[in-house]
Amino acid sequence: MSKLIYLDNAATTKTSKTVLDAMLPYFSEYYGNASSIYSIGTKSKEAINRSRETIAGTLGAAANEIYFTAGGSEADNWALKATAEAYRSKGNHIITSKIEHHAILHTCEYLEKQSFEVTYVDVDENGIIKLEELKKAIRPETILISVMFANNEIGSIQPVKEIGEIAHEHGILFHTDAVQAFGQVPINVDELHIDMLSSSAHKINGPKGIGFLYIRKGVKIRSLIHGGAQERKRRAGTENVPGIVGYGKAAEEAVGTMQERTAKEIELRDYLIDRILKEVPYTRLNGHRTNRLPNNANFSFQFVEGESMLIMLDMEGICGSSGSACTSGSLDPSHVLLAIGLPHEIAHGSLRLTLSAETTKEDIDFTIEKIKEIVARLRSMSPLYEDFVKKSQKK
Ligand SMILES: *Cc1c(COP(=O)(O)O)cnc(C)c1O
Repeated sequence: MSKLIYLDNAATTKTSKTVLDAMLPYFSEYYGNASSIYSIGTKSKEAINRSRETIAGTLGAAANEIYFTAGGSEADNWALKATAEAYRSKGNHIITSKIEHHAILHTCEYLEKQSFEVTYVDVDENGIIKLEELKKAIRPETILISVMFANNEIGSIQPVKEIGEIAHEHGILFHTDAVQAFGQVPINVDELHIDMLSSSAHKINGPKGIGFLYIRKGVKIRSLIHGGAQERKRRAGTENVPGIVGYGKAAEEAVGTMQERTAKEIELRDYLIDRILKEVPYTRLNGHRTNRLPNNANFSFQFVEGESMLIMLDMEGICGSSGSACTSGSLDPSHVLLAIGLPHEIAHGSLRLTLSAETTKEDIDFTIEKIKEIVARLRSMSPLYEDFVKKSQKK
């Protein structure tokens, strides 16, 4: 097989060489526990502090507002469960959106079983939250609004500043799952009125299993993981020093190269979108045309099954992702594609391609040619397509 064309960077990314190099000494040389007082322990502690400061700096936050976790899912769980618990005496109502990641949606379902009430606000056909509906959902007992910064499937970027303003006008806490947005779009927690923000290193060329929750000073929050006094007594467990070091480096690189990198990605993304829409009939783009993540393209091809497409792309060395969840044992199409109003059969024919800084025009040209071939082949085997063609010929 020829070269691998990896277009699934929303699922995870390759750990960059510089990040890996920064991490390695903390496995073998400076392996001390950051809580100990001898000098190799101190080395770990210092490395953690540097990483915390770097990350805080990229968000306009203070270092002591950054709490390391074991990834984005933990940060999301923590933000929701532990604020729900801490603010329970004030109210039991939470507002979120219909297109959140399952780390948020399944946590909300869990909280509903704990007698919390959750409103799932609708999005429009572009996957942008309906602000009027959000405002109407607010009640005196609303304690938290959690809306993602950018969607992992269709890339749509939410009006985070407006949501933050609405939350604060009503004295409600605002959490955002920024796992897809951090390092891709500029974020300043003060300007956007964000109280809590989740993030994960492996989406920005850092290692897997490390993330953080930004918690604004003054926000009451319980611990999710109980034990030792790490992370200022808010998140127990011996620190993942190599992971934290890797995350600091990845954040520094992602934010440092953001402008140049995303400009290049946007150009390639738009080239991909334009050509697919023009050259493959009966195809639509999912998500907002411009207000989307720099590296995200998501299409629905009529009369095609997403999973079959993925398998055939894989045989050509191309990695993508499909909007349907057949691989996870369920035949339900993605909740995100349904929320933007796609009928089941169209949602099933979806393909997400997410670029990286390493993606070239040659990769995209090759991918477009293969998509054209594969879609044509799959349609030629589809009875639905055959019927459709016959009917349209009769007209
Ligand atoms: C990947 C992702 C998560 C989960 O992060 P992990 O570090 O893999 O647990 C949460 N939210 C969004 C939007 C994501 O894309």
